[in-house]
Amino acid sequence: MDFCKTQAITLRRSDYSNSSQIVTFYTRAYGKIRALAKGSKRAERKSRGAIDLFSYTEIIFVQKESTDLHLLAEWEPLRDFPAFRKDIERFYAACHVVELAYELTEEADRNEPLFDLILDTLYGLSLSKRTEVVLRAFELQALKLLGYLPQLEECVNCGTGFAGNPGAVFSPVGNGLLCKRCAGEKANQSLSPGALRAAAFLASSSTAACDRLRLPQRVSEELRSLSRGCLTLVLNKPVEMRKFMR
Ligand SMILES: [Zn+2]
Repeated sequence: MDFCKTQAITLRRSDYSNSSQIVTFYTRAYGKIRALAKGSKRAERKSRGAIDLFSYTEIIFVQKESTDLHLLAEWEPLRDFPAFRKDIERFYAACHVVELAYELTEEADRNEPLFDLILDTLYGLSLSKRTEVVLRAFELQALKLLGYLPQLEECVNCGTGFAGNPGAVFSPVGNGLLCKRCAGEKANQSLSPGALRAAAFLASSSTAACDRLRLPQRVSEELRSLSRGCLTLVLNKPVEMRKFMR
């Protein structure tokens, strides 16, 4: 029986009994874990802060060898995000972030840069009014960190660089971007040179820098389409993009 201490972000919660919950955390040191939080719903525990969705906490859990459901021993809030309780758009944007983090990761697969990205994005969403650009940056960077982001500089088929070209086309079949010549006549979901540059910037810049990026409406739509295409391919199911998150 090992006691493990780590920073954690709450991705999901579900009721286990009248007083207890099963909580899924993304942790800095152990990746995604599920833990039984006994008594987490009792009033006296509230003095330490309830385990809210999105909350950033320090936890101690008992690692069980026989099961992947661990036992939460202690939790201490490090940061709460009240903005998500006051603003429905921010709330749904934050839901999108923790749901994607949940869906894109396997249990116990540690990825510290991804932990930092989730945390930075929640900070960004709690402060910024420009949820769409912060979300696109999160999606592209999470895909990149997990090795799913297509090569944005050259055609996956012929290797022609996109610089100076009329743009590219996302190909679900090839899991990458094709130049217009390789994509052929029937290609849709075209990405303009401006969208390719914006995608490369968002995939590699800090949340604060992404927040300052101003995008024309058409480029935003192209990026949304690229992001949705990649995520649908990785998750093997359609990804819902709520209307007011656009
Ligand atoms: Zn090509």
